[in-house]
Amino acid sequence: MNFREKNTKITAKISDKKCEPDFLKSLYDAGLDVAWFNTAHQDEAATLDAMANVREVSDKIAIMIDTKGPEVRTINFDEEPKVFKIGDKVRFTGKVDLHDYANNVIAVDYPNFHNEVPIGREILIDDGSIGLTVEKLENEAIVCNIDNVGSIKKRKSVNVPNTHIDLPTLTKKDTSFLKFSAENNVDFIAHSFVRSKEDVFAVRNVLDAHGGQGIKIIAKIENREGVENIDEILDHADGVMVARGDLAVEVPAAEVPLLQKRMIESAAKRGKLSFVATQMLDSMIENPRPTRAEVSDIATAILDGADSTCLSGETAYGDYPVEAVQTMSKVSLDLKKNRVHTNPYQIQEILGVSKREHFFAKTAFDAAIELDVDAIVVPTVSGKTAEHISSFRSRKPIYAFSYDDRVLRQLMAKHAVRVNNIEEIIQDTDKLVQVCVQSLLEQGLVKEDAVLAVVAGTTYPAPKRCSFFEVGKASDLVKEA
Ligand code: PEP
Repeated sequence: MNFREKNTKITAKISDKKCEPDFLKSLYDAGLDVAWFNTAHQDEAATLDAMANVREVSDKIAIMIDTKGPEVRTINFDEEPKVFKIGDKVRFTGKVDLHDYANNVIAVDYPNFHNEVPIGREILIDDGSIGLTVEKLENEAIVCNIDNVGSIKKRKSVNVPNTHIDLPTLTKKDTSFLKFSAENNVDFIAHSFVRSKEDVFAVRNVLDAHGGQGIKIIAKIENREGVENIDEILDHADGVMVARGDLAVEVPAAEVPLLQKRMIESAAKRGKLSFVATQMLDSMIENPRPTRAEVSDIATAILDGADSTCLSGETAYGDYPVEAVQTMSKVSLDLKKNRVHTNPYQIQEILGVSKREHFFAKTAFDAAIELDVDAIVVPTVSGKTAEHISSFRSRKPIYAFSYDDRVLRQLMAKHAVRVNNIEEIIQDTDKLVQVCVQSLLEQGLVKEDAVLAVVAGTTYPAPKRCSFFEVGKASDLVKEA
C-alpha cells in the first residue's frame, strides 16, 4: 500500500525529544505531510535541530510552527499536583508574588486575570478536567468554588468559556518565534486562539517585518469569539485549524461537530486550507489499534472535506506513532477508492479570487468529472491555481509543478495535491507542458495512455500564453509541437 497516494493530508506534532531522522522517515513513509512543532514546549535551538532532521528526510515535508497565542496557564512553581474535592475554595490571581500554593492561592500567567473574570463565571482547568465557579473578588484574587473532584497541576490551561479576556495576541516568545520562522524558511504558522482578523494582522505584521511574506498563517479556532468571526478571519488568514481540544472546553462539546463542518466549508469556499485537530487517534497513544469511534471521526473529517487531519500526542510522545499515521492514511485511501469526492459544499464561486482564476480552477475540476481525466497537471508559481482546483475536492490527483520549494511544501497540505520540482521558469508554454508531463512519465506517476488536463492560471509567467488549458493523452502531450 502506498500511503503517499492518499488525498487527505496528515499533519503531526513532532517533539524535539523524539525527532531522529529514522523516526521521521518512518512517519513520512506512513503518510506524514506536515511536521507541526509546538513552541509552548520547546525553544528555538531545539526546534531548529528538529527542523533540520525533517529536511534531511525530505525537502517536501512542510514545517508548521505553532504559537502559544492569547491563552492563560497556571504558573509553574514545580509543586506536586494538588488534589481538590467538591466545595473546596481556591484563589486565582494574576499577581505572581501573591502566589501561596500551601494556602490554595494559585497564580496564572496573565497579570490582570482576577479583574477580568466576572463573578458567577465558570473556569475550566487542564482541558476541563476540573471546573470551578467564581464567587467573589477579594484582595486581588478571585475566590472560586471547586465543582468536581480533580487536581490542579503546573502549566495547565485555564479556560473561561464565553468570556473575553483582554490578552495580547502575541507573547514575547511568540514574537521571537515568528522572527525565527521568517529567518528559517518555515512554511506555516498555526496561531493559537485567533479571535478576530486583528489577531491575524498582528502575526502577518511581524512576519512581513522580518521577510516572512511567503509564510502562510493558519488560524487555530479555539473559542467562541473565533467561531463567531470565522468568515472575517478566513478572509485574511490562509487557512483554519479546528482546534477541538480547547474549542470543546470553550463551547459545549456537542456544538463542535457542526462547527467543524462550517469552518471547513468557510475555508473551502475561499480556496483556503482546513485542518482538523485533536484526539483523532487518542487511544493509540497507548494502544496499537484505534477505537471504532476514532476511525469514524477521521472519516467524518474527510467526508466534511478537510484538507488535513492531525495527530498530536499520538506522534509527539505516543507508543504507536507510525501505526497512528498509517491508520489515518488507510482511512483516507479507502474513502478515496470507494467514494467520489465532488464539490461537497457546491462551490459556485471561490470567494476573494478573480473571475478568471475561478474559471480556470472550475474548468480543471469539470474536466476531471466530465472528461474523466486521469489527473490534473498544474504548473504554478504562487500555488494558487492548484489550491483553487483542490478546493473542489476532486478525487483525481493534482500534480503541481513549481520551482519554488516553499510553494511546493505548502501545497503538501492541500487535498489531493502531489508536488514536483521544475528547475526554472520555462517561458514557452508547449515546452512547459512537455517538461511536466515527461517528468510524470519518468517517475511512473502516469502511464503513456493516461488522459491529462493541464492547466495554468494567470500567475504562470509564460509570455506566449500566460494562462492555458489543454486536455490530451500523456504520450501526445510530450511530443514536440
Ligand atoms: C487544540 O486545542 O485542539 C489544539 C490543536 O491546540 P494545542 O496545539 O494547543 O493542543
